[in-house]
Amino acid sequence: MTVPSVKLNSGYDIPQLGFGVFLVPADEAEKAVSEALEVGYRHIDTAAIYRNEEGVGAAIASSGVPRDELFVTTKLWNDQQAGEKPHDAIRSSLDKLGLDHVDLYLTHWPTPERDTYSNAWQKLIEIRDAGLTRSIGVSNHLPEHLDRLVADTGVVPAVDQIELHPALQQSNVLAWAESNGMKIESWGPLGQGKYPLFEHPAVTAAAEAHGVTPAQAVLRWHLQRGFIVFPKSVRKERMAENFDVFGFELTASEIEQINAIDPGDGSGRVGSHPLEFN
Ligand code: NDP
Repeated sequence: MTVPSVKLNSGYDIPQLGFGVFLVPADEAEKAVSEALEVGYRHIDTAAIYRNEEGVGAAIASSGVPRDELFVTTKLWNDQQAGEKPHDAIRSSLDKLGLDHVDLYLTHWPTPERDTYSNAWQKLIEIRDAGLTRSIGVSNHLPEHLDRLVADTGVVPAVDQIELHPALQQSNVLAWAESNGMKIESWGPLGQGKYPLFEHPAVTAAAEAHGVTPAQAVLRWHLQRGFIVFPKSVRKERMAENFDVFGFELTASEIEQINAIDPGDGSGRVGSHPLEFN
């Protein structure tokens, strides 16, 4: 199965579908990532704060998959944004991953009270220029944060990884991305199982029409909307289910009906709000 690629503003391609490892315990990460690689995933999304980079690295090392066929993302944690700390943080992540570079390095949250996200962005530019990551981006940044990064450095992030699923579509961030050539990555693409997406009539109707599961219908919605997506599962049968989303296409009307799930008032959010997370 060929996963489509998305071209980043760095010129590098990212596989549009990957595998996320948030909440995969350290001692289960090697097994989970090994199974994901067996299923066919070639894009892994981790973070320093997930404390499972060693397991991810061990799975990569034992997989036999050539490095240039893999796309690995990790993230700078919030307490490492100040001063020169990002330089130590990326070296620590690379050591744990057993890699000499990652494909994408992200600042994890803007944490506005700390007011260190612009410094972190300047350090990520240096880290990219030193060859320790190919592309750089951010996560959980709102337009006001993105505007500041661009004003301070002139460099547009390759991606913003935000909570995004049918119940929370963040149109303000999507509009910023569209006008600035930045790509959107959806975290919590299945609503983390906390929002009742799989029972929503728009999702069940689309799933039934195509003979697929509700999770597959939701992932297909992300792909057809152009988002980069990396669902997490520790169950191999679900990893395979979530990867098997290229044999059908939602109609424009099905996409519209799933778009209409967003209550529009932010109540579909299942994670933290970027202005409140410090
Ligand atoms: P997801 O929306 O991917 O949901 C994961 C949950 O859904 C798990 O409980 C999983 O259970 C379950 N699940 C997975 N597949 C299926 C399926 N086919 N049918 C039914 N249930 C299913 O949430 P995540 O938070 O994990 O988001 C994905 C990735 O995004 C993360 O792993 C991480 O890489 C990234 N992320 C980034 C954040 C950020 O701040 N930048 C924040 C949160 C996530 P089980 O494992 O038991 O199958």
